Amino acid sequence: MAANLLDFDLEGMSAFCESLGEKHFRATQLFRWIHQKGASDFGQMSDLAKSLRDKLAINATIMALPVTSEHVSADGTVKWLFDVGAGDAIETVFIPEDDRGTLCISSQAGCAVGCRFCSTGHQGFSRNLTAGEIVAQLWHAEHALRQRRNTSDRVISNVVMMGMGEPLQNYAALVPALRVMLDDHGYGLSRRRVTVSTSGVVPMIDRLRDDCPVALAVSLHAADDALRDDLVPINRKYPIAELLDACKRYLDTAPRDFITFEYCMLDGVNDSQAHAEALVRLLRRAGLPCKFNLIPFNPFPESGLRRSKRASVIAFAQTLQAAGFVTTIRKTRGDDIDAACGQLAGEVQDRTRVHERLRRNAVIPIQPAPRA
Ligand code: SAH
Ligand code: SF4
Repeated sequence: MAANLLDFDLEGMSAFCESLGEKHFRATQLFRWIHQKGASDFGQMSDLAKSLRDKLAINATIMALPVTSEHVSADGTVKWLFDVGAGDAIETVFIPEDDRGTLCISSQAGCAVGCRFCSTGHQGFSRNLTAGEIVAQLWHAEHALRQRRNTSDRVISNVVMMGMGEPLQNYAALVPALRVMLDDHGYGLSRRRVTVSTSGVVPMIDRLRDDCPVALAVSLHAADDALRDDLVPINRKYPIAELLDACKRYLDTAPRDFITFEYCMLDGVNDSQAHAEALVRLLRRAGLPCKFNLIPFNPFPESGLRRSKRASVIAFAQTLQAAGFVTTIRKTRGDDIDAACGQLAGEVQDRTRVHERLRRNAVIPIQPAPRA
């Protein structure tokens, strides 16, 4: 079977070139054509010998993901829905800001962690994406945006693994995909501008620290184990104390000297002053340099949960700030296209609708969630 060249980091590409009887440095040429220039066809690769292009045409492909839909918001946010087969769809969202362009990427179709406030979690797990499918989201977005803006300059400066799925439960595909993002011959993104967001898969946080440290965001959502067990079921396996220890170890090699904690604000569940004070005590005791990102919950019907009142979110943020923690409240973007992701907002609602549609048409139904 032909190899999908989007699956390879530079080392993998070198090995592939050698397997074709080619010099390993051809890998950097291929990388540049594919990732920097957006080539999808070997015929375009004018500085490669015709004999190599012919070999590639037989043995390799550059497998783009079929685009089911693309929506552009009035604020410039772009949301793509990609078809990954068998009735599964994944979402990718581009969020432009004055000083950066952030792409929010999915790592799995569905998710097995099953967080109570997450629509992806409610859908259950379908399958891991391949490294090529993770990279294809960036490859498509970067080059589609360049074309639209009529520029050869880089458009995407930041990547956040905050779309569908738990990236650290798809570790084998995540790491090569991250390496493509970081590679100077690939997208050349700085480690500080690539963020893995996790619900707290402790052993894999340690592996990421050793294999490919990038910025880390941890979805905390609660300061005590009883509440976190309920909201983020993986906490039963890796409780808060173990998670914070892993975060501390991560800082040994991390490109940033703090961990970002995400905290989804749920009315009457985790948003009181007492909860904020408990969070302050927890992180003071842990002595862990961190920042907080408060995410107003984006409701969907099956959750039975409500978004915190604006006043509660502000009061919560003030308590954290008064204790010396840098705290931001996540803005919603792309509301008109249900794409307030990057920051998974209305997007999760849309995701539910999309999946309902796909489910109705699917030949193979989406599987129920194996619980973490
Ligand atoms: N699985 C990873 C990354 C994807 S989720 C993780 O959990 O960190 C990305 C972020 O979106 C997480 O912080 C998650 O808690 C948040 N999120 C999920 N559903 C949400 C919702 N309905 N409203 C607001 N934020 C949500
Ligand atoms: Fe999975 Fe993250 Fe959603 Fe939890 S919040 S179910 S880990 S995608």
